[in-house]
Amino acid sequence: ETGESLNFIEHIVEEDLENGYSVSDLRFRFPPEPNGYLHIGHASSICLNFGLGLRYNAPVNLRFDDTNPIKEEQAYVDAIKRDVEWLGYTWDTERYASDNFQQLYEWAIKLVKEGKAYVDSQSSEEMAAQKGTPYEPGSNSPHRNRSVEKNLELFEGMKDGKFEEGAHVLRAKIDMASQNMLMRDPIMYRVLHKPHHRTNTDWCIYPMYDWTHGESDYIEQISHSLCTLEFAMHRELYDWFLDQVVDSEKIRPKQREFARRNLSHTVVSKRKLLQLVEQKVVYGWDDPRMPTISGLRRRGYTPEAIRNFADTIGIAKRENLIDVSLLEFHAREHLNKIAPRVMAVLDPVKVVITNYPEGEEEWLETENNPEDESAGTRQIPFSKEIYIERADFKEEANRKFFRLKLGGEVRLKSAYIIKAESCSKDSEGNIVEIQCSYDPKSKSGSGTEESMRKVKGTLHWVSVKHAIEAEVRLYDRLFSDESPDTHKDKDYMDFINPDALEVITAYLEPSLRKTKIGDRVQFQRLGYFCVDPDSSQEKLVFNRTVGLRDTWAK
Ligand code: ATP
Ligand code: MG
Ligand code: MG
Repeated sequence: ETGESLNFIEHIVEEDLENGYSVSDLRFRFPPEPNGYLHIGHASSICLNFGLGLRYNAPVNLRFDDTNPIKEEQAYVDAIKRDVEWLGYTWDTERYASDNFQQLYEWAIKLVKEGKAYVDSQSSEEMAAQKGTPYEPGSNSPHRNRSVEKNLELFEGMKDGKFEEGAHVLRAKIDMASQNMLMRDPIMYRVLHKPHHRTNTDWCIYPMYDWTHGESDYIEQISHSLCTLEFAMHRELYDWFLDQVVDSEKIRPKQREFARRNLSHTVVSKRKLLQLVEQKVVYGWDDPRMPTISGLRRRGYTPEAIRNFADTIGIAKRENLIDVSLLEFHAREHLNKIAPRVMAVLDPVKVVITNYPEGEEEWLETENNPEDESAGTRQIPFSKEIYIERADFKEEANRKFFRLKLGGEVRLKSAYIIKAESCSKDSEGNIVEIQCSYDPKSKSGSGTEESMRKVKGTLHWVSVKHAIEAEVRLYDRLFSDESPDTHKDKDYMDFINPDALEVITAYLEPSLRKTKIGDRVQFQRLGYFCVDPDSSQEKLVFNRTVGLRDTWAK
């Protein structure tokens, strides 16, 4: 034993292995409905299912739960596949619930013939009125005792397109007095005259989730069908439907439930995320403000960061709220190891180095990543005029301000020690230029006594004449409230943070000219940034993935 602790789902699997299952019986699936893009909540389910696959060397299917043609699209299927792959997982077989429509139909006929399903021809309001309450039994439909012949005729008519939507449904004949409301003759099929993204117009009856999911698990021989807690009450129905078809020679799938994961300051529901896209609150599903996998990718998150986050929070039996700062922590932790360090100034003020020779420039060596020696070094240009951050200069400041102030010294990262001598202001009193002197013997790495001299602050900078201008998109939380979709009297849309995106122009060191879309870097002292797909030859666009705690520049 490695001493690692198992989660409760792994304990269930381990127990099954002790009680007769063999490892080769194990098979899992990740079952998204292609009605939107995957979000950070799905990452938990993906890591759980594929993690079990890796642990037991068992196959994991990617199952599209595509039973509702009104909301589903091929584009969502494509996006889901891209995201699961990007997260680093490989599925065994790509399956669709719609692959099983014919088998499900045949099994439904079998149920009708056995007197276990019937066609109901009431309106949905009438059926709802007969459902009863959790405390009172429901009442039987007047169609509940239709003959098998009549049921077969009507059900075939439904399938053959003879009826309008809503005219008839097929229901399982279970128990209108069951303690479990879901067992009160649940609907198995409805008429929908809608083309399906895969089966096109082959079918105009579509099976309901409960009838489809367990049977699909059975067809695929999934041993453990893991879903979120809202399906706990469905388990009895899942089992009832399986009882109708299972063959004792085969694996009988088990549904087990775990808690949905919620992230603070956002919503994790495809329906709600779709609303943000449709109402143009964001630019699309992959907007970096979105908690979607594609939004996080575009924002600069790595698959490792998302997987580490999901593994750290693990799975739970109860719902709770995970603070988004934990996700950000994992982004920083991984990006710190892999992101090359570069210099960029987001809010520039010009520094003129008065004793630096006019028209001269020099190229200084600087390390690409202090966390990774193999990342090597690069050259950055230095000249008489540079930009530093406006916030890094104050005319006067107390002793705790380890940046630049009049009469004070700082080191320019990988360059020289400078001293602020004076500054100029515009008519409104804004500082427009700082005049500094530099110590020519203090060049970093030159080995001189002056180069080793300790000064309190180190600032990042870029040479004015070499700097490249870029658009930088700074992100904040999309919702001002921690838990925007849990308020009784308010809608989550009421909590949209209008300042979640700020677009600025920044000045970058010239080495960044050769970055490509998706490249991730650390702008020193500022945070981690990623090249956005909106970038062009003419203009680079960067997204701020996550800020940085000031480490070397205090
Ligand atoms: P949504 O409300 O976002 O559409 P869903 O559960 O309907 O969520 P599915 O496409 O059915 O979305 O989800 C695929 C799998 O991912 C399911 O097993 C589901 O239970 C799981 N899942 C979805 N959201 C979360 C979440 N927030 N935390 C953990 N697992 C989740
Ligand atoms: Mg679902
Ligand atoms: Mg859903």
